[in-house]
Amino acid sequence: MAAGNLYQLTPEQADLAHHLAMLRLGLHFGSELAVLLLLAGLLESGLAGRLERVFERMFTRPWQRSVLFFALLLALLEGVVLLPGAAWMHAALVRVGISIQGWPGWLQDQLLGMLLVLLIGTPILLFAHWLLVRSPHRAWLWFWMASIPVILAGALLLPQVVEPIFDHFEPLAATHPELVVQFERVVARTGTHIPPQRMFLMRASAKGNGLNAYVSGLGPTKRIVVWDTTADRMPQDEILFILAHESGHYVLHHLAWGIGMGIAGTLILLWLTQQLAAWLLRWRGRAWKVDALGSLSGMVVLLLALAMLEAVSEPIGNSISRVIEHQADVYGQEAMHGIVADPQQTAVAAFQQLGRAWLEDPNPAPFVVFWTYDHPSIQSRASFAAHYDPWTKGNHPRYFAAAPGADPAATLRVP
Ligand SMILES: [Zn+2]
Repeated sequence: MAAGNLYQLTPEQADLAHHLAMLRLGLHFGSELAVLLLLAGLLESGLAGRLERVFERMFTRPWQRSVLFFALLLALLEGVVLLPGAAWMHAALVRVGISIQGWPGWLQDQLLGMLLVLLIGTPILLFAHWLLVRSPHRAWLWFWMASIPVILAGALLLPQVVEPIFDHFEPLAATHPELVVQFERVVARTGTHIPPQRMFLMRASAKGNGLNAYVSGLGPTKRIVVWDTTADRMPQDEILFILAHESGHYVLHHLAWGIGMGIAGTLILLWLTQQLAAWLLRWRGRAWKVDALGSLSGMVVLLLALAMLEAVSEPIGNSISRVIEHQADVYGQEAMHGIVADPQQTAVAAFQQLGRAWLEDPNPAPFVVFWTYDHPSIQSRASFAAHYDPWTKGNHPRYFAAAPGADPAATLRVP
């Protein structure tokens, strides 16, 4: 371990962390590859085309064979390709004590998740197929337009409809009123307001020992959620830092930005997907016995193109996410200034706790961070926090107008 590393593990923990990191990386790229191989295999073996013709004979109504074909495809992807990797990861997390969820409960969560994918994914594929039949050249554009309200509705409904399927939530004030009071002091500094009704506690301790907090929802459903593990097991100053980081996401409208960039990115992704799929079809369509993208087997070509593009574009979304997370770290540390005794030390201690709880790799390879990390590494976050002190160095805080020694209740500079 290099000298000067702030985030440190015991040798035993470091071994486990290294093993977990390798496994996570292997499963990450392994499942991407497995999805590509399944889709390419369905086409190369002629199975996709054959299945389409079998369904044509079996079902007289086109919608029946479309629904079955797409549901079967999604079930194959989820159940055969992705589930084994998830199970492998779960076993490893149980072994190191990060997860305490038993297999029956885990399997139930997975099956519910798969059901959701089928219920949401099948109509989406039906719609894309319908568009490709009617407008072979502009389908990507119509699909993108239709996707906007769906993305917005998804973000709006996620915390109220989807998240409660998997976990239990309750108002933070019901169990941790003193934490709400302290957090209100931090929020008051931002010049904005996060009402206590928008702070929730998630019962994560039922399933594991990881520590976390997050922001979810849109507009009327926007909220800050703290895992009960975090609220119950971390010192209050460190929880305040985590909440201050989350309030940064909240106040700086990171979710809305993320959704906006997601919508813009979707436009590019959909156009590229249709171009690549059309090219694949010209290249191998005859061998695959696929006539057009607007056929059932043509949709397999489209999904293959989408999976290829998603795999290679992964670092783009992650790089944007790391920038946003770094902003929230800066914001969190500035928001705590004057409220906790030593913001730098508090933030470093919080990162140490988070890293240990998840057995984060203390020294991930730069390429791995670039390609797969949606947050900066714990090591770099701790190192930044330790050195970030704009008050005593005569610099200006980035988000707050407070001068050194000024009123801690100073207002937000950039809302
Ligand atoms: Zn964050």
